[in-house]
Amino acid sequence: MPFRPQVIIGELMKTFGTNTNALPMSREETKTVEKFTRILKDAETDDLLIQSDDEEEVFGGIVDEEDWKPDDDDPSACVVPDKVNFSSGAAIDVAMVHSAVEFMTDVRTKKLRSFASMQRRYRFIKTQHDMQKLRVFAKNNEIQCSRVSQFSTLSGLLRTKVFEAIDDRISIDKFTLRRLAVQLNDEHVHIEGFQASDGWLKKWKKTNGLVSRHVTTFITRANYVNKELTEQAAKKFVEEVKAELATLDPDVVYNCDQSGFTKEQYCKRTLAPKGVKRVERLVQSKDALTHSYTILPMLSASGKLAPMLYVVLQEKGGKFPKKGHFSPDNLIIRANTSHIMNKQLMVDWVESAVCDPSMPTEVVLLLDAWPAWKNEGDVQAAALSGNTVHVRSIPPGATSFIQPCDLYFFCPLKNFVKKVNAYIIYSGITFKTSERDNLLRVISAVYRVFRAPIFQSCWKYGWIQGGYIDDQHVKVETPSKFCFKVSGYCSQKKTRDTMCQDTAFLLCPYCKKVLCFNHWVGCGFPAHKCKC
Ligand SMILES: [Zn+2]
Ligand SMILES: [Zn+2]
Ligand SMILES: [Zn+2]
Repeated sequence: MPFRPQVIIGELMKTFGTNTNALPMSREETKTVEKFTRILKDAETDDLLIQSDDEEEVFGGIVDEEDWKPDDDDPSACVVPDKVNFSSGAAIDVAMVHSAVEFMTDVRTKKLRSFASMQRRYRFIKTQHDMQKLRVFAKNNEIQCSRVSQFSTLSGLLRTKVFEAIDDRISIDKFTLRRLAVQLNDEHVHIEGFQASDGWLKKWKKTNGLVSRHVTTFITRANYVNKELTEQAAKKFVEEVKAELATLDPDVVYNCDQSGFTKEQYCKRTLAPKGVKRVERLVQSKDALTHSYTILPMLSASGKLAPMLYVVLQEKGGKFPKKGHFSPDNLIIRANTSHIMNKQLMVDWVESAVCDPSMPTEVVLLLDAWPAWKNEGDVQAAALSGNTVHVRSIPPGATSFIQPCDLYFFCPLKNFVKKVNAYIIYSGITFKTSERDNLLRVISAVYRVFRAPIFQSCWKYGWIQGGYIDDQHVKVETPSKFCFKVSGYCSQKKTRDTMCQDTAFLLCPYCKKVLCFNHWVGCGFPAHKCKC
């Protein structure tokens, strides 16, 4: 049966009625009409796949953030100043307490004033116990705030920061929120042992009227038109590769695919003021999203990533500037006018990455139906003399359920990159990933983390999921889970005899030492590269 937009509009009119208001359309209304028109037009020509996703950890691309609005009230008004509790139960402003402490000592006689004279001036002083409290403050030259009010101070500071971020249209996930809370506590509030637990963050979000948003996606599903045929072809493909793997070393069978990254990856699930419940996201096709760099990893059936990662940066005119760029030892870097790989780059990729001396001389590549390598013969012919490349083409439309990189590699990778970017934005370090060399430092350091032997069984999972190998999956922590469980300070040396002492950023998956961001990425120091 054909899809009938008229039926849907008719049904909607039953719910909303017809317009009797003569006012012209607002900007927001016009935009909404455009969006619905696009959805209905897509539905008319193809099938429209509507996905509702409630998962927190799954990466989902770019969230349309145009409708972000903080509450109307001034967030700074919500910052509660430090308070001290006194015996009457009153919480007194720290500034007021400070003035009482100063007044307590008579400047002429250097003697402490009497309880009565103190009480006349400061009504909150009710008992000798209160006087004792002030004497302790005077002696220590420090005013101790009560824990309850320290929490409300922290809560207010966090609120200000988060609303600033919402104004700047920066998305915040749970991970970032926690880091931010801990950082603010370290810098300003000093609540001992504060960890920003899940419970505390949940309560904080609730009292501040912030909710995690739910994202609904509309995808044009051209790929699903011949669903049944695709499934049959996929099954046959997996069986053939599986038979081949029975006789081959899994170290020579690779899945390679390209994936585009925007310079700053956005989180799918982000905080928004209550009331903004759903975000509609339209994805015409994968290519409609803009990328600023593309990576082309090679993942073996044994769960190993090739030593070298091929990276294509989107550059003006497809060229690097004359001064060149930073060249980390685990990246092969190229420039192109767009993120889309062309045939020339495909040939270069085979020559430089697939035939790199670190690779086996004979390899089997599982490639998807991407235009530049659609022709198996072209890819095989590009191999250098002394190298043999066999191509197995993944049936078109089947990549999402049988391509190992799509099943379990790109998602954890994007998730990790997202966390690194969030740290860069919120930690206050001066490190701009918009600068080419810094971006390359980050890509190189992330790739080094992902190649760590402890994650090998992670990357084998995509092959198990796809049905290529029967191994039992050994559950191990992902890089995000393993690396970011850190606290304390950097373990590295700043100079020959002084320690770094910068805030911990990551746990090295090779030596399990705690590193700060600069030591990890190689900014101001050589990048930390142990045993890799
Ligand atoms: Zn692909
Ligand atoms: Zn290490
Ligand atoms: Zn350090």
